[in-house]
Amino acid sequence: ISPWNFPMNLSNRSVATALGCGNAVVLKPASDTPLTGGLLLAKIYEEAGLPKGLLSVLIGRGSDIGDYFVEHPVPKLITFTGSTAVGRGIGAKTTGGQHIKRVALELGGNCPLVVLDDADVAHAVDIAIIGRFLHQGQICMSTNRIIVDASLADDFTERFVDRASKLVCGDPLDPATDIGPIINEAQLTGLLEKIERAQQQGAEVLLGGEPDGLVLPPAVFGGVNPTWDIAMQESFGPLAPIIVAHGEDEALRFANMSDYGLSSAVVGTDVERATAFALKIDAGMTHVNDMTVADERNVPFGGEKNSGLGRFNGEWILEEMTRTHWTSVQHEAHPYPF
Ligand code: NAD
Repeated sequence: ISPWNFPMNLSNRSVATALGCGNAVVLKPASDTPLTGGLLLAKIYEEAGLPKGLLSVLIGRGSDIGDYFVEHPVPKLITFTGSTAVGRGIGAKTTGGQHIKRVALELGGNCPLVVLDDADVAHAVDIAIIGRFLHQGQICMSTNRIIVDASLADDFTERFVDRASKLVCGDPLDPATDIGPIINEAQLTGLLEKIERAQQQGAEVLLGGEPDGLVLPPAVFGGVNPTWDIAMQESFGPLAPIIVAHGEDEALRFANMSDYGLSSAVVGTDVERATAFALKIDAGMTHVNDMTVADERNVPFGGEKNSGLGRFNGEWILEEMTRTHWTSVQHEAHPYPF
């Protein structure tokens, strides 16, 4: 079961590995992206000669067919990529339902980027801009919170706002565009509500603008308390809260103050120190001096806490997609006592 934000990639990372490990697959792409997330992929496999019946694609809304899909007795593993809310329900149905199934859950994130007091501010701004605004922020690994040491906060904020204000918003087919449309009206409405809520809770709007159709310009918030909704909830859009921390201990406390633990990043000139900090972040992935968005086929991808269960890529996904089966053969009869 896959989401809409990188439909073909996030469907195929399960489909290809499952088929490669000798399984048959039923794929349910997101209802916003049935073609790239499902039917086109199936067509490619068909043309490549995959035997009939090994890959089926089922199109429909999760709310209509999801329960039946998850609770069907045949699949032994449900591999799900999507929101924590839906993933939690799938976890309950697969382990608490009539059929006990294995489950791989790749869920939401609330990824922090921590800028330590010895960071190169220009580099930190580069990392924060791309990590927040790539794909309009619609990535599970997007930088959802920026935590900056107080000694650099003014400089960082000024440069970040300046860079964000220069991002080009509009037509995604124009190569000059940095920020394209949000996936749908419901998602845009949710983002506008989050902006309003941030202001109600006291955030200072340092940059923002009205949407043009589904294109929402970057919104940057200053003076954010780490407990406010804008910092605690995954926005999945181009909203950037900046939180000021006084020293490394407070920065770490803020970074770990979330129910999510997918990706994260630390920026600092002393790499030993930044790496020691990285190891204390309660997350599945932390990048030192790079953005929070990173995925490679040979490294373990996955989250801690409410960001999921299991790991993709490399040898880790082979564990998920295969079963261990002890088979013993006796060559002589045992001298059993009775
Ligand atoms: P979503 O949870 O709304 O939908 C994901 C899939 O679940 C869709 O195919 C949907 O139709 C299906 N679904 C919905 N209700 C269901 C139900 N009751 N039973 C079974 N299936 C059901 O998520 P989304 O909006 O498509 O994607 C955005 C979310 O996905 C974000 O939270 C993002 O962080 C997360 N995500 C995580 C990763 C990761 O690898 N950790 C990658 C991409 C996106």
